[in-house]
Amino acid sequence: MRVLITGGAGFIGSHMAEQLLARGDEVIVLDDLSTGSMSNIEHLVDRPGFMYRIGSALDSPLVVELVDRADCTVHLAAAVGVRLIVERPVHTIETNVKATEVVLDAAARKGRRTLIASTSEVYGKGTKMPFAEDDDLNLGATTRSRWAYACSKALDEWLALAYHAEKRVPVIIARLFNTVGPRQVGRYGMVLPNFARQALTGEPITVYGTGEQARCFGHVNDSVQALLHLLDSPDTVGQVFNVGSEREISIRGLAEMVKERAGSASEIVLVPYAEAYGAGFEDMPRRVPDVEKLARVTGFRYETTLEQIVDDVLEDQRTRRSGEAQ
Ligand code: UDP
Repeated sequence: MRVLITGGAGFIGSHMAEQLLARGDEVIVLDDLSTGSMSNIEHLVDRPGFMYRIGSALDSPLVVELVDRADCTVHLAAAVGVRLIVERPVHTIETNVKATEVVLDAAARKGRRTLIASTSEVYGKGTKMPFAEDDDLNLGATTRSRWAYACSKALDEWLALAYHAEKRVPVIIARLFNTVGPRQVGRYGMVLPNFARQALTGEPITVYGTGEQARCFGHVNDSVQALLHLLDSPDTVGQVFNVGSEREISIRGLAEMVKERAGSASEIVLVPYAEAYGAGFEDMPRRVPDVEKLARVTGFRYETTLEQIVDDVLEDQRTRRSGEAQ
């Protein structure tokens, strides 16, 4: 199989490229290197069956060409990260909505199977836990820029389901919950690489808000496995799936775990949301996936423990730091 990965030089995309090559598939990566980076795929460049193009998923003729050359597409290219969304809302909305439209339009020409990566953020401020795929979405006001991300991704889902219903495109939608692991960078606000870097440098570990907000963190290798199961399965087309781990931890608990496993002397400090993201920021207090549908249809469940995940991220940050020092 030859798989086109948009956003393939990004954090999740580069791991997916690696796993596809390891099982003997061919990979075409399309990435504009806005948040992805060549260093994520440099080790793959000379591997047989690997191709990459630096370009935008908004470039329709390019996307049509690459979708045609592949058997199926995994659409990961998007503006992600809460910090990016708050700082560059126009870019976020336009990239997320237009790129998905371009990819689906290209896929429709020859009916190519397409997996669209969505996000658990679409559940918004819902309080019924765990979140199941058919639950209502509960987004905040349009004056709170954070929800623009959720809304842009929800629109992507609607568009994908509409392409399936009206144009028979075999689409699959994956709502990714917090995915972490090696190669994720803290620059766009993601919590675990930030905590790991802070713990290793002895800087204060910055817990936003009260630290009582909680998340379920899954290892990127498990997320990629889940996405590949969804892509391979004959029974997933036209459907939405939660993709994530069920192990929940508060952000303060995560800070403590990182500090302890790093053997760090860093102080854990609470930073008000307004200071971290600007006035009026709204967080999600909890976000837990119902993963029964994923397990029922694909037989797959996340396996990596949170302790292993934290150790992997610490190791990755150590390697990065020693690379920077040379
Ligand atoms: N967070 C934090 N310190 C940081 C970065 C993030 O306490 O340096 C918090 C953030 O406010 C949120 C949680 O960690 O409550 C997860 O943030 P992330 O951006 O990784 O993912 P989200 O679940 O918000 O999409």
